Amino acid sequence: MKEQTSLANELFHRLFPICRSITGHGVRETLRIIREYAEFNLLEYPSGTKCYDWEIPKEWNIKDAYIKNSKGEKVIDFQKSNLHVVNYSLPIHKTISLAELKPHLHTLPQLPEAVPYRTSYYREDWGFCLSQNQYDSLAKDETLEVYIDSTLKDGHLTIAEGILRGKSNKEFLISTYCCHPSLANDNLSGVILTTLLFRELQQHQLRHTYRFLILPETIGAIAYLAHHQEEMKSLAGGFVITTVAGPGTIGYKETFRQNHLIDRVVLQTFKEENVAYRLYPFKPDGSDERQYSSPGFRIPVATITKDKYYEYDYYHTSLDDLNFVSAANLVETLKLYVAAIEKLEMNQTYLSLNPYGEVQLGKRGLYPQTGGAINQKPNSDQESGQREFPNQTSGDFPSSKSVPKAHIDLDALTWFLFLADGQHSLMDMAERTGLPMKQLDEIAKLLMEKNLVRVIDEECC
Ligand code: ZN
Repeated sequence: MKEQTSLANELFHRLFPICRSITGHGVRETLRIIREYAEFNLLEYPSGTKCYDWEIPKEWNIKDAYIKNSKGEKVIDFQKSNLHVVNYSLPIHKTISLAELKPHLHTLPQLPEAVPYRTSYYREDWGFCLSQNQYDSLAKDETLEVYIDSTLKDGHLTIAEGILRGKSNKEFLISTYCCHPSLANDNLSGVILTTLLFRELQQHQLRHTYRFLILPETIGAIAYLAHHQEEMKSLAGGFVITTVAGPGTIGYKETFRQNHLIDRVVLQTFKEENVAYRLYPFKPDGSDERQYSSPGFRIPVATITKDKYYEYDYYHTSLDDLNFVSAANLVETLKLYVAAIEKLEMNQTYLSLNPYGEVQLGKRGLYPQTGGAINQKPNSDQESGQREFPNQTSGDFPSSKSVPKAHIDLDALTWFLFLADGQHSLMDMAERTGLPMKQLDEIAKLLMEKNLVRVIDEECC
């Protein structure tokens, strides 16, 4: 995990300064850098393309912007923070009165040192964002020079897509948005976690397919759906990754189905890892779950957060910066996503090949040598029904090189065989027995080796 922390740190520092928006060079530059770390393809859709009820907007780019006071001093400077300009502002250069400027200024009186983040994607306008403190000093002047060197022209909307193929016919979605300028938790953290998750899953032999998308929020997701309608309709579930590196608590926004396999693997992960979390019931707000789970698609999509959007004081302000987030927090959340996906991968349904009566474990070396000691106070591993067995060492996800030698727990083994009726998936077994899925997965591998169970069809969601 050390490597992941240093990669996260590196990406935070490389990507944070870039002025991103829903279109333009900032998004392209961000995705160009991401592609140094993960194999994503670029897709570009031209301005004016109709996508369901929406249309790809003109492309916005900006070079510079400022407000100068009557002494000619730059009191607001885009070069110091790209949040100072309302995202998608039209170009302007004129000297105007404070009264005329005022409707174009945005402040946050309750956080006087913070610059708010504001956008005007679908209404042609211009504006500046500044701290209340900056406003108070600027308001001493009667006339001010405003300058925004931006362009709004026909161009493209840019999306990155990466697909990791597995053998099953199930495909899951991992999506995040890259349209926010210099804001760290919302949502540079999501872009970085998505990149690291791609790298992590790439190292495993996957059972399922994972489709990764990094795109501008709302219009990007809608544009992608409109261009991949049939494929996207068949997705089994997924995650929208956002706000994952703050100092606060882990949060979980469930899928619209509430008890989908996605919800169950996440909650099982929290239980197994002893994670204290805050549950956010599904609402049609938030991020691109609104698009992916809409009636035409109904992909159950959930989100694990660390300092969820809307909830933290610095949300959509300049205080959501590199001091607010940490690479270690991001990696902590990454581990939860990896553990949840590991469970998706493990969740198969098994059928006992000896379903009539109990399996005779003793003749297969799966039962303690000395009878009578089961359920008595153990004084050795043997007597308590614990046996060592070697780890599975294939490259299959989730077996890992570093898992310590496990023990067969006789209770776990008998539970497994009892539930191996083709009706209980591994997830069902974990919920029913309270046993970790990894332990059940290891038992499954052992019993497969002993020819006592077989996998039946794909688990049901
Ligand atoms: Zn946001």
